[in-house]
Formats: sequence, structure tokens, C-alpha cells
Amino acid sequence: MSDLVLVLNSGSSSLKYQLVQPESGESRVAGLIGRIGEPEYPADHEAALVAAFEAIAAAGYDLAALGLRAVGHRVVHGGDQFYRPTLVTDEVEREIERLAELAPLHNPANLRGIRSARALLPGVPHVAVFDTAFFHGLPAAARTYAIDPAVAARYGIRRYGFHGTSHEYVAGQVPQLLDRDPATVNQIVLHLGNGASASAIAGGRPIDTSMGFTPLEGLVMGTRSGDLDPGILLHLDRAGMTAADLDALLNQHSGLRGMAGANDFRELSAMVEAGDSAAQLAYAVYLHRLRRYIGAYLIELGGADAITFTAGVGENSVAVRADALAGLDRFGIAVDPERNAAPARSARVISPAGAPVAVLVVPTDEELAIARAAAEVATGQPD
Ligand code: AMP
Repeated sequence: MSDLVLVLNSGSSSLKYQLVQPESGESRVAGLIGRIGEPEYPADHEAALVAAFEAIAAAGYDLAALGLRAVGHRVVHGGDQFYRPTLVTDEVEREIERLAELAPLHNPANLRGIRSARALLPGVPHVAVFDTAFFHGLPAAARTYAIDPAVAARYGIRRYGFHGTSHEYVAGQVPQLLDRDPATVNQIVLHLGNGASASAIAGGRPIDTSMGFTPLEGLVMGTRSGDLDPGILLHLDRAGMTAADLDALLNQHSGLRGMAGANDFRELSAMVEAGDSAAQLAYAVYLHRLRRYIGAYLIELGGADAITFTAGVGENSVAVRADALAGLDRFGIAVDPERNAAPARSARVISPAGAPVAVLVVPTDEELAIARAAAEVATGQPD
């Protein structure tokens, strides 16, 4: 048997795959198959997986002959029942299917990937790693919406939180980077990608996070609105918009794209520089929301030891990092302009030497985190 883990992230029309050595973190092959179901493209997830296996074989890894340690599957929603990486059985598949009620866009696609992979690689342990798992134990005050508890219980309404694999992975690195005991570190993690979320973590345990019942709540994102007054939905409903209209509005036509016409942050930044007023307003709204969460989490934590930026925007945008924390010196928070602008790719501190609050950039690696979790679960399984 090889020491490799195959990580699969199966979306509605795409399949991301990566062959990873979990201990070293080395990625051997990675790729993305898109447009599943469109003419001239793989007809379904099983065909996409066959194509992925061919690409992996072309890179020198014959998966059938190699013997994988495990296949790790990203699953968006684990509901209340899945809060650790879980060996997939038929029963687990049925539960993930049932949870599609809570994540209609994601779980069915995740499940298609799992079913296809189990059919094609039957002798390998398949492990589901849930985006919600890290936030399962949020304190009651943070996970509860202030609505009729009978309604909440009946419809499974609570703050679940998402991007958990990333928040956990990044938060796990910060104490090491600062050479501190993890139990003593209060931290804020800002996962700023196309999707975006913030979390407050005390001694390794999350105490709050910005995404909620769905991945729509919280920060302004590439195409999603983040927080808004729920009364707006009632108003638009009364004005004749359907649930499908609202879904499309809030998930696809809001956020940076909705406000400025561009969801890619590089494009938005170029528009801001060029003086585009819609882009400037979108950037201002994005930062306003982000700073509001940073402020809230500083208070919830009773002060932070570290604030960490991750994901596409967080790892790459010098301006967002500087603007998000500008003018906070009185809280011991500052970004060193030179450190911030240094063209580094690795995890690093960007606050001035000796600053009371460490500000960091830590590249996230959800695939590696999933590979490690899958290898750990598989190790506990009989052959
Ligand atoms: P993710 O979802 O983590 O892949 O992040 C995607 C987002 O990161 C997109 O909005 C990209 O425009 C943004 N991004 C990637 N590279 C850069 C960069 N060099 N500067 C600013 N934003 C970037």
C-alpha cells in the first residue's frame, strides 16, 4: 500500500482532486474537472472521476495498483450529528443525503462524488470531512438564533458555521508560529476568499463564527450578500419575488459582484484604482463589515493575541490587510507596511516586532487538512 490519500471536493458541476502525502504535506497531483453534465464534458460525477483517475495515471500514479491509504471527501453540511471526520458507510451516505435539506446546493453534489468514488475504489476507506464540524461545539449563546425555539428545533435552525476545516487548520498553526501554548492563545481568523468568514477562537475552541445556518451570513463575499436585515426578504417576498429569486439574488448576484459587477478581487481592486465609484463603494462596504466582525470578536474574546488572514484575498491583498486593521493602534493592533507588502507565500507575521497583537498571514490548505483527517480515521480501521 502507498502512503497517499486522494482528496475529493465534489461540487454541483465540478470535481477537484488532489493526491497528497499527508505527513509531509506534499501534493503529488492536483486538478479540477469542470462543466460536468455539459455537452462534450464528463456526463456525470462518475465519468469525471474516471477522467481524474486518467489524469492522475498520466502523472505516474495508477490508483488501482498503488493502493491508497484513504479517500478524503469534503462534505459541506454535517448537521448536528457529524462533528468529526467519519468513515463513510451506507448509513452515513443516507444521513448525508438527509442533510441535503439543510444544504440543497452542496450535499447532493458531495454525495454524488462519494458514491462514484466508493464504486470505483471499493477496497479503500472513504472518509467524510465536514465543513461544519469545527463549529459544532459553539457556545449556546453564539449558536442560537433569537426565534421561537419550537420553530428552530423543528427546522434544525442554529448557527452551524462553515469553512471549519480551514479555520481549524489555520488556527492550529498560529500558536506554533508564535511559539505559544495553544491553550493560551485567543485568536481571530479571517478566511477571505470568494466565500468569506471570520471566527473567534479561544484556546483552540471556536466561540463564534460569522457564517450561520447557511454559508450566506456574515461577511460580504464575492457573490453573496452576507448579513442583511431579514425584513428585506419579507419585503421582497411581498413584492412578488419567489424563494428561487431571492436565492439567486443573495447567493449569486450580491456581494462584490452585485455591487460592482466583479466578484474577483483583483478585478475589483483594479476598478477601485481606476476610480470606479461602484467598486469604491463595494470595497468600503466589504471593509466596513469585516471591521465590524473584528471589533465584535475582540470583545467576545476579551482581547486577541493573534489576528490571521487566509484564503485568496486574505493571503494576497496587501490593501485589505492594511485597511482592515488601520487605526487600531490603541488596541495594540498594527500592520507593518514593509512586512505586509513583502512578496512572501509562506506563513508569516506582518505586525511590527514586539506588537501586543500578532497579525499573521497563514496560507490555508483544506486539501491537506482533509488528507490528514482521512489518514487518521483510516489508520484506526481494520484492513
Ligand atoms: P479563494 O476562494 O480562497 O480561492 O479566493 C478567491 C479570491 O481570491 C478571488 O476573489 C481572487 O480574486 C482573490 N485573489 C487571488 N489572488 C489575489 C491577489 N493576488 N490579489 C487580490 N486578490 C486575489
